[in-house]
Amino acid sequence: SKFVVGLTGGIGSGKTTVANLFAAEGITLVDADIVAREVVAQGSKGLEAIVTHFGTEILTPEGELDRAKLRQRIFSHPKEREWLNQLLHPMIRQEMLAQVEKATSAYVIMVVPLLFENGLDRLVNRTLVVDISPELQINRTVKRDNVDASQVNNIINSQLSRSEKLARADDIIDNQGEISTLKREVLALHQRYLQLSGTDNA
Ligand code: ATP
Repeated sequence: SKFVVGLTGGIGSGKTTVANLFAAEGITLVDADIVAREVVAQGSKGLEAIVTHFGTEILTPEGELDRAKLRQRIFSHPKEREWLNQLLHPMIRQEMLAQVEKATSAYVIMVVPLLFENGLDRLVNRTLVVDISPELQINRTVKRDNVDASQVNNIINSQLSRSEKLARADDIIDNQGEISTLKREVLALHQRYLQLSGTDNA
């Protein structure tokens, strides 16, 4: 079946930027954040199960999942959090694999912020880590989201460390330089992945 590259990296490392450069080469993206929203969309089995468990007060007046309320409900309740993960993780995995199989591009990029943390690296043929220093992660995220450096730092500390991610990467993109440099790195990897996926007809 399909050759799948798992793209990951810490907060603000440039995953979305890199993914869009692959998409510009015609490569289909399967994005874990988007799939995670799809499995709890209105009318989904995921949302139905959540309402059965937590009650209709977990919905907004419009009938959508109230994410802030859900976060609140599981925040200091590890068992509820565990219940939610056991419900959603298999659904997310299954839907991501379904989207991979539907894709028609030479290979597929799966964008997963917590690829190693959630064991989703088991679903991919190869892992690609976007790497920048924690200082740059903070600078770029503060600039993008207008949040406190300390908030970003807390998130960095909750994720797998830089060295651990690099140790587990098959491929690494250094995104500490200019976008033009990044583009060249992506194009080189794209050629590599075309070869590896066995669709390089040159
Ligand atoms: P998150 O995990 O927080 O969603 P991400 O890994 O998807 O983040 P991006 O949103 O792609 O990261 O990048 C973070 C910010 O840094 C964005 O504002 C992006 O435009 C900017 N950025 C990405 N690469 C570079 C670069 N090489 N030089 C300057 N800015 C960059």
